This record gives sequence, structure tokens and C-alpha cells, in this order.
Amino acid sequence: MDVQHSPDRSLDHSLNLALAGLEQQQLSRRLRVIDSMQGTRITISGRELSNFSSNDYLGLAAHPALAEAMSRAASRWGGGSTASRLICGTTAEHADLEEELAAVKGTEAALVFSSGVAAATGTIPALVRRGDVVILDKLAHACLIDGARASGAKMRVFPHNDLEKLESHLKWALETHPSGKILIVTESVFSMDGDLAPLKEIVELKEKHGALLFLDEAHAVGVRGAGAQGLAGELGLGDRIEIQMGTLGKALGVSGGYIAGSRTLVDFLINKARSFVFSTAPSPAVAAACRAALRIVHSQEGDALRARLRENLRCLSAGLNMGELPSAIVPLIRGSEESALAEAGRLLESGFFVPAIRYPTVPRNTARLRITVSAAHSAKQIQALCKALAHHG
Ligand SMILES: *Cc1c(COP(=O)(O)O)cnc(C)c1O
Repeated sequence: MDVQHSPDRSLDHSLNLALAGLEQQQLSRRLRVIDSMQGTRITISGRELSNFSSNDYLGLAAHPALAEAMSRAASRWGGGSTASRLICGTTAEHADLEEELAAVKGTEAALVFSSGVAAATGTIPALVRRGDVVILDKLAHACLIDGARASGAKMRVFPHNDLEKLESHLKWALETHPSGKILIVTESVFSMDGDLAPLKEIVELKEKHGALLFLDEAHAVGVRGAGAQGLAGELGLGDRIEIQMGTLGKALGVSGGYIAGSRTLVDFLINKARSFVFSTAPSPAVAAACRAALRIVHSQEGDALRARLRENLRCLSAGLNMGELPSAIVPLIRGSEESALAEAGRLLESGFFVPAIRYPTVPRNTARLRITVSAAHSAKQIQALCKALAHHG
């Protein structure tokens, strides 16, 4: 056989074709290496930039108390947790973190996962399966969609925050799956749009139709509510939501995810959530840093940081003539990949890191600049950004 004329069946060949396709559609992505501590000023390739891209809403990632808790715990417990939580990976740091999270959320129990993605992709398939129905908001995070897909349950999607369509899906689910579970999955603060779910109405619809609610508070915990427990707590709805998810890597400045709910829910997930059962426990030092973050979030310092964040949001909204901003995530929709990328490039040239967010993170033709504001930004930085946006937009 003439090998030279056989088609190139190597892996790299097919991957290179796929990468070239992404490049052509302006959808290719590359890593940027940060050479400084995380914060509102970061260094990339030797250039100092004003950073408006992180989810570190309170500036805790660089807080000395977190680094100190982490290094103290590393000295006490060592580097890794050596096994899954169910084998020998659960230390007192993990147990205490879960107890403290449950106290914050006002639930009986909480369970920590190595990431928010792991929490969602482990929990949803543990709770529903073939014969059940999952109803998702159109803009739900990829991990919520992946969890729903992996579950084998029938999926229905409602247009973003569309209560009428949600209700019609609920009615359909009751008719077609009378003995199955019906699980609504949505976010409280949407990650790429920054708007809020109409949570009270969703909870009412859920109760009216005997469904369950899985609420992802990734961008709300630490930021919203008197106890910084998220939007459910802010609206007094916490005890009416069966499954409350959140992350430890955004406002809390560390990494990880959690599910908060009843003791029974947590006991069940300990047995059945595959991303929990079959994964090495987060390092005890990570758990210790999360505990330090929770302490700050619930101190006067936390209140002051949230007040600063609100002040910074007022400053940004004034600078952009935008009216009141619902959250610290501010999307400037540009439509085409090309224009969002070009504008992000011009901003970078001027010393501002504002990411262009493209498909598949957001729907096609809704490419955008995603500005995130932190309590750690100075008013000067925000005013300078607004000026640059006016100049380059
Ligand atoms: C970031 C995010 C997650 C994933 O959490 P990680 O801890 O980063 O894995 C889940 N849901 C939403 C809405 C998010 O924004």
C-alpha cells in the first residue's frame, strides 16, 4: 500500500483543521500568563494593566488573611489531601468549612466540591434521570447544561427569565411526566449578562407546580444580601429553594464550589454525586483559605468592601451613562466577534484589560466586552476606563 497517499489520520492533523476553523471565525482562544499577584492591576508580558476581567468582587484573592490562612494550614496539614473526601481526604478544615457555609446559607448542611463545575455536574445527574424533566434558563452556565445533559432527564429550555414560557414547560412536564421529578435550574446573578433572575416569581411557580429548584449563586454569594449569602437570602427565599449552589472562587477569592440544602440532600450527594465521590478532596489549605474568606465576608470589613463595590458601580454607571447597574458584571454588547475583539485589543493597547466574550460562552452575534468591577478598584481607575471606552468604542 502506498502510505504516502493515504489521508493524514493523525490526531494533530484533525485538531489543526479544527483550530484553523476557530481562527477563521475569530473564535480561537489563547492563554495569557499573568506575572503578578491577582488584583485590579496585573502584569501581562511585562505590561502593567488595569484589570476589569476578574470575578474577585471584593478583592479577597490578594487579601493577606487568605494567604496567611493558606500557608498556616499548609504547614499544619501539608500540601494535598491525598484521597477523595470519602476515603481519607476529609480534614477538620473541610468539615468546619461546610458547617460555616451551612450557617451562612441558613441551611441544615453544605457540601464542598473541588469547583463549581464539579458541584453542578455531580449534583444534577445525582438528583434526576430518565423519566424526570430539567427546565433550564437559556443563559444558564455551561456546567448546568452539562449536568442536565448527563442526567438523561428530558430537557426543556425557556428564554432568559421568561416566566410564561417557564410555566408552560412546567405544565407540559406535569402532563407528560406525572410521576417524574421536575427540576428548574437557573442562576441568581447571570454570569455574562449581570442581570438577576425573577427569583420570587420562579419560587412561586415552582411551588404551584410541585417542582424543585436548583439555584446557582456563583456571582451572588459574598456580594448580595445582608449576610452576603446571595440573592435567595436577600429576598428571604432560602428555605424555599431545595438546592443552592455557589462557588468559592469568585467573591470568596479562593476556589471550589458547594451545594447547600437539607441534611438529607447532603447525605445523598455524599453517596451519589460522582464528581464528589470519585475526586481527590480539595487541599486542606484551600479549605482554610475559604474559611478565612468567609470570616472577612461576614465582618465589618466585608460590609465596608460591599459598600465600596456599590460606590464603584455608581461611578461606572455615571461614567457610562447607564443608570443603576444590577450587579458588578457589566456587559457591553457589540454583536460580532470581530468588533468585540478589536475593541478589547484597543483597550489593551491603552492599558485596560477588559475581555471580549464570544460564542460559545455567549450566544452567537452577542459578542461583548464584559466589565467586572471590584471593591478594590479606585475611582480613578474606573473613570480612566470610562474615558478609554468613550475614546475606543
Ligand atoms: C464560574 C461559574 C461556575 C463554575 O464555578 P467554578 O468554581 O469556576 O468551577 C458555575 N456557575 C456559574 C454561573 C459560574 O459563573
